[in-house]
Amino acid sequence: MKSVIASRTVLHPFNSVLLVVSVALFHVNLFFVMIGGIVAGLFGGKFFCRWICPMGWLMEKMMPQDSAQKAAHLYQYYKLGCPIAWGSGIANRFSLFRINRDESSCVSCGVCDSVCYIASLKPEHSIYKKGSIDASKTYNCSKCLACIGACPKDSLSIGFPGKGLTEK
Ligand code: SF4
Ligand code: SF4
Repeated sequence: MKSVIASRTVLHPFNSVLLVVSVALFHVNLFFVMIGGIVAGLFGGKFFCRWICPMGWLMEKMMPQDSAQKAAHLYQYYKLGCPIAWGSGIANRFSLFRINRDESSCVSCGVCDSVCYIASLKPEHSIYKKGSIDASKTYNCSKCLACIGACPKDSLSIGFPGKGLTEK
């Protein structure tokens, strides 16, 4: 899983080109792309933005390299979104696949929060702190999965919410 997350920088532009080519060559109706993105959100939340969307990829590339500024821009961008983001972002709360944390292996190091643009900007949001707003369930979480990729204890995963996995 971590290797898939690490290859997002390649997969995202690849999927974006595939989408653009499909729309251009096979005349795929954008309405169906929109409906498909929203319906897919019911399964995995707002992942379209960071894994498929050409605009999402362009915006990410155009953002400043400074990490604080980049976080602020990403937050604003994924807050605004588009119809696909609106629908799939709302679905983050109840999508079939969600980001789960295995409490027994988590050492509360905070690395997940430090790589998350939501948690790093909004102190009341966190991926691991009890009593906080779960960043991964908010509308703004674009399922970049950076938190899962960065966890040194492999305590975070994406899947069905289940026994032994915390939901704050
Ligand atoms: S990075 Fe992993 S171990 Fe550290 S606080 Fe987050 S979930 Fe827990
Ligand atoms: S997937 Fe994780 S790191 Fe990315 S925005 Fe959502 S909670 Fe933050």
